[in-house]
Amino acid sequence: MRIGQSMDIHRLCEGRKLILGGVEIPYEKGLLGHSDADALTHAVAEAILGALALGDLGKWFPDTDPKWEGVNSQIILQEVGRMMEERGYRIGNVDSLILIEKPKMAPHIQAMRENFAKALHTDIANISVKATRGEGMGFVGRGEGVLAQAVVLLEEIGA
Ligand code: MG
Repeated sequence: MRIGQSMDIHRLCEGRKLILGGVEIPYEKGLLGHSDADALTHAVAEAILGALALGDLGKWFPDTDPKWEGVNSQIILQEVGRMMEERGYRIGNVDSLILIEKPKMAPHIQAMRENFAKALHTDIANISVKATRGEGMGFVGRGEGVLAQAVVLLEEIGA
């Protein structure tokens, strides 16, 4: 087994879509970034890279490359899943957390889990997505941005 962890931060601003875990969430603000800025999906993808000791997400999907401009981050996650499988590993489980003040994440958690399970070829029971607020404190609490964290456990295929 191998373990990996990551976190990602994106700024909330007007004129952008709010996409987390591959789900477009209706809100007056969205996340700023080169891709679709899906901080949760980036954290999960980078945690898998971490478990494989393959460096960070920016090494494989540089924000200077026009190829990844505006890209759906589920494509990035699928690609990382392919790299994992090529190296002989599958998902044991994923636990992830979104820190966001508004809007409420609860109605969207199931769809996020389904997206991750599909992209990573695993059962939804292996995917956990949780959310919490900043209680008015710090950049999360002031609604300036979003922070996402993920921990993954990989299992050797056939072990
Ligand atoms: Mg990111």
